[in-house]
Amino acid sequence: MKAVSPELSVADLRERCHQAGLSLTHQRLVIYEQLMKMGDHPAPEAVFERVRKKIPSLSLATVYNNIKIFVEHGLLRELSVHRGSLRLESNLDPHHHLVCTNCKAIEDIDESDFQPIRLKKALPKGFTVHRFSVEVLGLCSNCAGKIRQ
Ligand SMILES: [Zn+2]
Ligand SMILES: [Zn+2]
Repeated sequence: MKAVSPELSVADLRERCHQAGLSLTHQRLVIYEQLMKMGDHPAPEAVFERVRKKIPSLSLATVYNNIKIFVEHGLLRELSVHRGSLRLESNLDPHHHLVCTNCKAIEDIDESDFQPIRLKKALPKGFTVHRFSVEVLGLCSNCAGKIRQ
């Protein structure tokens, strides 16, 4: 199993923003860089906690706004496995998720680790498929260890 968390350089970030037609301000650079660094499907609040150390004047609302802009430009995805709390996806390569039901940790697993996923029946009329996302629910090694003791 291969964890996918592409490390992007600042130059890569600039290129990605440029291709997405987004101007990369210092604020956005710091927020996006932090998101890529965290790579573990962080909640916006967690990103804010770290970024405010670099830009003390930054507000949570600004972080939310920029995240919304990144999502709109396809530089991030919203992950909604945990209803009620937004988690973010910075890995845009096809992959699925291992979700720990105890600590809510979300780990990526490569699409190639699965058999190809196909539908056996037609979907309800009018539904358009964008992609498949499989959630494998269980306990992460950390929690499994603790719970066994
Ligand atoms: Zn866990
Ligand atoms: Zn993911």
